[in-house]
Amino acid sequence: MTVNYEKCINCGKCTKHCSFLKKYNINLKEYANLAHLAFNCYLCGECKRVCPVDIDGRQLSLDLREKRIKEGYNLYLNGYGALLLEKRNYIFKNYANVNSKVALFPGCNFPAYYPKTTMIISEKLKENFGISTIFDCCGKPISDLNLKKEKGYIRDRLNNRFKELGIEELILLCPNCYYYLKENLDIKISMIYEHDEIMESLIFKDNSNKIEGLLFLPCPDKDSRTIYKMLEKYIDNNSLQEITNIQCCGAGGCASIKEKELTKDLQDGFKAYDKRIYLYCATCAGMITKSNVNVEHILCKLLNTDEKISTGIATVKNRALFSIKRQR
Ligand code: SF4
Ligand code: SF4
Repeated sequence: MTVNYEKCINCGKCTKHCSFLKKYNINLKEYANLAHLAFNCYLCGECKRVCPVDIDGRQLSLDLREKRIKEGYNLYLNGYGALLLEKRNYIFKNYANVNSKVALFPGCNFPAYYPKTTMIISEKLKENFGISTIFDCCGKPISDLNLKKEKGYIRDRLNNRFKELGIEELILLCPNCYYYLKENLDIKISMIYEHDEIMESLIFKDNSNKIEGLLFLPCPDKDSRTIYKMLEKYIDNNSLQEITNIQCCGAGGCASIKEKELTKDLQDGFKAYDKRIYLYCATCAGMITKSNVNVEHILCKLLNTDEKISTGIATVKNRALFSIKRQR
């Protein structure tokens, strides 16, 4: 164990702020002895933000996952088979005609949920800046399961591939890819919002793209708000009210496979809001839209692509279509 949970003072704050801990009526110290719940935590980080002695439930859950796997817990036989088959060596990757030093890397979920917007961005970047697009998965879902060997394999595969292709920088659309790849790649990583010239060429210049309503931040950006700050020049903070009482969209930590009802409860929590919810994470959008609430990705709004988010089997079809697409 790398987390010193013994310093817990039993204040109960973590339980109060986490629906997973609340469901089992435990705090983080008690969670440390319940390895059978290793994969039920959303890795959202809300507990660490409220804990007065700085205990990190995310790391605790990752430690428990490692322990379970070492004890022989078989993820293939326990609900993760499809995810592992798809993402262990991402089956929908596409590196066709990549011939630029800077490449767009939309990740696996943005193209799955927003294929039309992905195509518009990909084509404009090629046309205006000579930037190619790479379709691949960053490896975060496998890392969240704490499959160390597989995580190392994906990291090496990506680093070697980018080196072979002479890629020096990846431009990303996904906050999860951004934080994960910053830690795991040898090359420069940036979000599309950091590139003024690119954004200028993409943004639809009309009053109809005013962003008003509610905002929900993705878990990895909640601490430093790095991506949120990049977006500030494109949104009016005064027109957006932040949703802070829901800990996670339900996608985090691959916990939804174990916690189906709890995940639905998290998603249903968004029904309490009657205004449009803006997001900058396609995964959050995909999860929250399951509760039939009004969600929109900020990037789609800025580009005025007017794209209805894909759901269900269509998301798999979209990934598959991008894997066979020949690029110019
Ligand atoms: S990381 Fe999130 S889901 Fe896990 S224990 Fe902490 S608050 Fe709960
Ligand atoms: S918030 Fe921290 S100190 Fe309080 S019960 Fe949870 S782990 Fe213990």
